[in-house]
Amino acid sequence: MRIDLHVHIKRHQSLAELRRILRKRNLGGIAVTNFHNVSFAYFIRERLPEFLIIIGQEIESSAGHILALGIHALIPDRLAPQETIHRIHAQGGFAVLPHPYLLRNSIFYHAHSPRLAFDAIEVFNWRCGPWLWPNSVAALAFRHVQLPKIATTDSKEAHTIGRSCIELAAQSEAEVFAAVRAGNFIRHEETIYPSWTCAKDYFSKLFLPHRSLVCFHCHDPLHFRPYPRKRACMQCGYLETMFVTCAHGHYICSCCRTQNAFKEEAFMRFRLKRGVEV
Ligand SMILES: [Zn+2]
Ligand SMILES: [Zn+2]
Ligand SMILES: [Zn+2]
Repeated sequence: MRIDLHVHIKRHQSLAELRRILRKRNLGGIAVTNFHNVSFAYFIRERLPEFLIIIGQEIESSAGHILALGIHALIPDRLAPQETIHRIHAQGGFAVLPHPYLLRNSIFYHAHSPRLAFDAIEVFNWRCGPWLWPNSVAALAFRHVQLPKIATTDSKEAHTIGRSCIELAAQSEAEVFAAVRAGNFIRHEETIYPSWTCAKDYFSKLFLPHRSLVCFHCHDPLHFRPYPRKRACMQCGYLETMFVTCAHGHYICSCCRTQNAFKEEAFMRFRLKRGVEV
């Protein structure tokens, strides 16, 4: 089956549309790897039993992002990468190094001694395509590293899920991990080159009001700021360099924001309001 092991899914995603996209791309499964949350992955797994939905999380370790696959409980962000990987393995999970050369948010694997105990490396990240260097540098830098090398999309928009993926013979989560560990899979990589549309997408995100979130404090719209600033989270106090605030400079960190958004009642209310399945 074909499986995309790095997928972010929005809170208001229609399940009927998701089902249609997975069928269209001929995917047998996906790993839902949202930041700061695993409950949404469970929500999707329960409602799409015909697909293999792996519970995952993209974790912000102190050195960069780490993908946890096959976990069952949320892993805290901001821990050292060694500790993060240890916690993934303690849950029986599978640890992947995503987008190793994106620079921002990437762990520089070769600088760590002893080497971090990743189970696989994402050498092809579809969404990195237009930047040209991350995937080509990763392919070169990891050519002598004896670890399974996977391709994913890192989709943030549902319609792009599965445009890159791996294909293997497996029915269950355990079989997927066993096949990846053994190197028994093929990568499907769709390269996208920089274009006017890519540039427009990127810059519109920086300048348009944030679509789905309002300030938790004053309910004004949140805006992306082109220049990041250090702010303390009004909820947990964590000092973060960030792009998103309301016009008054109120700030809540992405971790607290996500936790609030996925609280059972708020989450259901939000989906009902957006007219999608609950
Ligand atoms: Zn991601
Ligand atoms: Zn505000
Ligand atoms: Zn916070």
